[in-house]
Amino acid sequence: MNKADDQEIIDVHCHCFAGRSLAELIAAGLTRLRSAGVRHLAVMGLVNTSFSVEDIRKLIPEGFDYLGEPLYFEADDLLQFTHGSAGMLFPMVDTRCLRGDVPGLLQSYVADGFRGIKGLYLADDGNDLRLAGVPEVFGISLEQYHRREWQIFAFAEANDLPVLYHMDAGRYGDVMRAMLDDFPRLRINFPHFGIGRRAFSAILQRYPNVYTDIAYMLPHIQNNPGSYRDFICRYPDRVCFGSDALLYQPEIVLQYIDLVRSLELPKEVEHRVFSVNPRSFLGLEPGAAS
Ligand SMILES: [Zn+2]
Repeated sequence: MNKADDQEIIDVHCHCFAGRSLAELIAAGLTRLRSAGVRHLAVMGLVNTSFSVEDIRKLIPEGFDYLGEPLYFEADDLLQFTHGSAGMLFPMVDTRCLRGDVPGLLQSYVADGFRGIKGLYLADDGNDLRLAGVPEVFGISLEQYHRREWQIFAFAEANDLPVLYHMDAGRYGDVMRAMLDDFPRLRINFPHFGIGRRAFSAILQRYPNVYTDIAYMLPHIQNNPGSYRDFICRYPDRVCFGSDALLYQPEIVLQYIDLVRSLELPKEVEHRVFSVNPRSFLGLEPGAAS
């Protein structure tokens, strides 16, 4: 084994988007990733309790090929993949379409085997993903929407579950701070450097329980590697490895591994990004030193 293969890698940000018919393909991909040093993948699985396919599609960005269960309820398939993965997959329930008894539903997903929560802050159509707002699509008020998001955070904090939450620190910084002030013990990852690094820096400096990841940032990082290397070295205990890969796209995870190596970070910082920070965000036991 060469030196690179000794490094444990944990991807905190993948999406399922795959159904049972792809089980063999997925298993082959996981084998490939395991031999590249990947030990765990946190995978987001959608749940849909009551909405039409048409409405759900309004809440999913374009450019991701959804090959999962046709009504966007991926929980069963993802848990099946998890059971067959020999501990590699870490399933997280995607709450963007959650409606009804939020704590009760989350409790049932955790009882079934989910170990974390994914959310997406879509208060209006001014979000960075250019998606419709949840209040508009589901016909609820902004106050009702915020109540739901606060219930999700309260559940996560009370049950010590990690939350991966897509939110733009630049546009929604006030709401972000209100959330973080209310849930100081929550382990939360605002992915993609909180969308805007300038606004997000202030958040990282003020809240020690906040993480971020590099998912979906490949073109930006490649265009400006020095500036991203500096940012990661400024917050070496907060930035996690993540890829935004779909479960049937191991090659994207491998591209992101190469991307991190191409930054030539100090060895201990690289180890933090690949392993130490993902473990502390997800709440996994500390791993062996590299
Ligand atoms: Zn994502």
